[in-house]
Amino acid sequence: MHDFCYKGKELYCEEVAVRDVAGKVLTPFYLYSRKTLVDHYTKLAKAFKSVKPLICFSMKANSNLAVVRALVKAGAGLDIVSLGELFRALEAGADAKKIVYAGVGKTRKEIHDAIKTGILLFNVESAGELVVINEIAGKLKKHVQVSLRVNPDVEAKTHSYVTTGKKESKFGIELDTAEAIFLDKARYPHIDLCGIHVHIGSQITLGEPFVQAFRKVLIFLAHLEKQGAKIKFLNLGGGLGIIYSDEKPQTADEFASRILPLLQGKKFQVIFEPGRFICGNAGIFVTQVLYTKKNQAKSFVVVDGAMNDLIRPSLYGAYHEVLSVTKNENLKRIQADVVGPVCETGDFLAKDRNIPDFGSGDLIALMSAGAYGFTMSSNYNSRPRVAEVMVSGNKFEIVRKRETLPDLVRGETIPSFLK
Ligand SMILES: *Cc1c(COP(=O)(O)O)cnc(C)c1O
Repeated sequence: MHDFCYKGKELYCEEVAVRDVAGKVLTPFYLYSRKTLVDHYTKLAKAFKSVKPLICFSMKANSNLAVVRALVKAGAGLDIVSLGELFRALEAGADAKKIVYAGVGKTRKEIHDAIKTGILLFNVESAGELVVINEIAGKLKKHVQVSLRVNPDVEAKTHSYVTTGKKESKFGIELDTAEAIFLDKARYPHIDLCGIHVHIGSQITLGEPFVQAFRKVLIFLAHLEKQGAKIKFLNLGGGLGIIYSDEKPQTADEFASRILPLLQGKKFQVIFEPGRFICGNAGIFVTQVLYTKKNQAKSFVVVDGAMNDLIRPSLYGAYHEVLSVTKNENLKRIQADVVGPVCETGDFLAKDRNIPDFGSGDLIALMSAGAYGFTMSSNYNSRPRVAEVMVSGNKFEIVRKRETLPDLVRGETIPSFLK
């Protein structure tokens, strides 16, 4: 469910006509609904309320300050993967004690700064990283909480690029190795090895892979506890799928009804790290038609947005529904690709779609673009990154200005030997 729907012929975000936003900020831009964001967070929090979960929004899905702020205000914690995300989290007013830090390759500086900030815990993915955290924590005279990310070797049944819980993936630690690390915890006197973390992939629409993974992890946990390990945190990761076209993903309640029975009688602080589930359907990408063209094989709608703005179609063959910002029932429908101006054949936003025969100047919305949209955007082809706008009720504000041409060369210099 989301808050983008037609009123008459106009597409609205909550109580704001998308066309009005386009008139003010020009195209292309991302548009977020605060209400959808918070509703999705709340749905998950309510579904799991009996275990009082800490829901840490995965910032890599959408790290705009306004998005993070809206969720922090609603009570969310945050899942971060870099110092950049830590900086954003603090700028958005997050409580450090609700921040968990993940990633296979944390640098010494990242570990140092995160410990100083006083985050809740690190999700650790190798023994080497434990050695480094232990050493830095010792120097800072801190005792640091750590969860080990385990790799349960289950098939998440999603796109291969976003499957992370198979044994051939770079993520996590095999259960045997994780057990050895737990039994050897005396080697890390400045670390409190007190949690298990598992994250098996993204855009997972079925309950079964989660159940399989969590069962394995719970059996492993019981085994560890028998050997004296004290486990406080059970971090079940993110990965909940959403609707892009005709998927039928589990709802938060359906997910909870399968997972809660597994957690019965357990005293762990349960953590979730959803990204896409919270923000995916809370954002759209709005772009304007420049030209239409046809060759013998195909029809193309050339728009002002491109793969550098929204890379998911090029990267994963992802589907984003194409809607008219203003419906015009007089237009016949055609089969066409929606493509951008970037010099790559892979630059398309939609492929072989049955869409209205748009004309120059028409506004198009690519739906469900709130997750891994702006955060994956780049300046490829020296295209300034687009504006981001948030709606709340009948108000909207620009929450990130469109980049300017001088922004493109900020930090670059012509060296003295070329002057
Ligand atoms: C990316 C990621 C998430 C969020 O994944 P979604 O599919 O967006 O829910 C959560 N945890 C970890 C460790 C991740 O890498």
